[in-house]
Amino acid sequence: MRADGIDVLSLTIGEPDFATPPHAIAAAHRAALAGRTKYPPVDGVPALKAAIIRDFRRRAGLDFMPDQVMVANGGKQVIFNALMATVSTGDEVVIPTPYWNAYPLVTGLAGGNTVFLDCLQSDGFKPTAAALARALTPRTRWVVLNFPNNPTGAVLTAADLRPLADVLLAHPQCWIMADDIYARLIHDGTPHATISVVEPRLADRTLTLYGASKTYAMTGWRVGWAAGPRDLIAAMVNMQGQATSGINVPAQEAVIAALDGPDDAVLEMQHAYRRRRDLVQSALSTIPNVVSHRPDGAFYVYPDISQCLGGRLRSDEDFARALLDEAHIAIVHGAAFGRSPHIRISCATDDETLARACERIAQFCKTV
Ligand code: PLP
Repeated sequence: MRADGIDVLSLTIGEPDFATPPHAIAAAHRAALAGRTKYPPVDGVPALKAAIIRDFRRRAGLDFMPDQVMVANGGKQVIFNALMATVSTGDEVVIPTPYWNAYPLVTGLAGGNTVFLDCLQSDGFKPTAAALARALTPRTRWVVLNFPNNPTGAVLTAADLRPLADVLLAHPQCWIMADDIYARLIHDGTPHATISVVEPRLADRTLTLYGASKTYAMTGWRVGWAAGPRDLIAAMVNMQGQATSGINVPAQEAVIAALDGPDDAVLEMQHAYRRRRDLVQSALSTIPNVVSHRPDGAFYVYPDISQCLGGRLRSDEDFARALLDEAHIAIVHGAAFGRSPHIRISCATDDETLARACERIAQFCKTV
């Protein structure tokens, strides 16, 4: 449509619209000019692993040794490595819904079965301990916890995690994947909480995932990492060794600079995401047939559009198509995240585009 000259506003992608911090780019440049262009170690360069360990200690209070850390081609490859290395045919992976679709897709690729754990909007899109207990079986291999969440922005506090930890303690058969990739994108000062800090007895079966993409606007550099139990990390490194090998060294040097360097850019982005969340939230609250929640983190809003259906539109996918065709707004429909009827609006775009898009969505919702 854009190629035809149509002014499409895209709120689809989970990609910061900010530039990578210059000190990270400079570090990559220096590394490339210094000839650091050879095959990298599969598990990550030691200096990045050391920076990751410092960062986990500083921000989360988690302690790891170098052989408990691996660097991957983005957080996505961490998920691939972990599930492919551990899930056998018929094993179950518990995934709270709505979810980011890599978890069920890679589970399926590994031959596992997904068990969905419903997180309701009325519960703030947070999993309850009772629902988690019902989802667990002797075949559960993994439980995924991604908070702040993509696509809802829900954040779990230490008090929210406590009852979930109690359930997990009683199920030693499963690993826990704490996908904390949005940990630094929490609004309103709520401290980030992670399961292995809330319950240290779970640390020896928790894999904590993090990455540079969201925090430092470094999506294209493809650097993510994980820390957790030694044997699991070793199996993941083996998997990666045959899939893609190590990550290019200039990108790893850029991430060292991002982790250890000044934090101003991160704080500026946090501030912008909070402002945009408020902008979108208040615009959506004036649309009578859209019910929005208030995301506490990440950069997405995931409103319920059920009151827009029943007329000419039957599903959130219909809504998304019609919104694109008629209002020239691209969003992602809720079915792509396993919970309908919703839409996901990404706030990773500038304020003016967001304001214009919200106006068009409001006009569109009058026509359904
Ligand atoms: N985890 C979640 C919840 C995400 O939303 C994403 C990206 O969208 C990732 C992990 C992986 O990001 P990357 O592979 O860029 O590190």
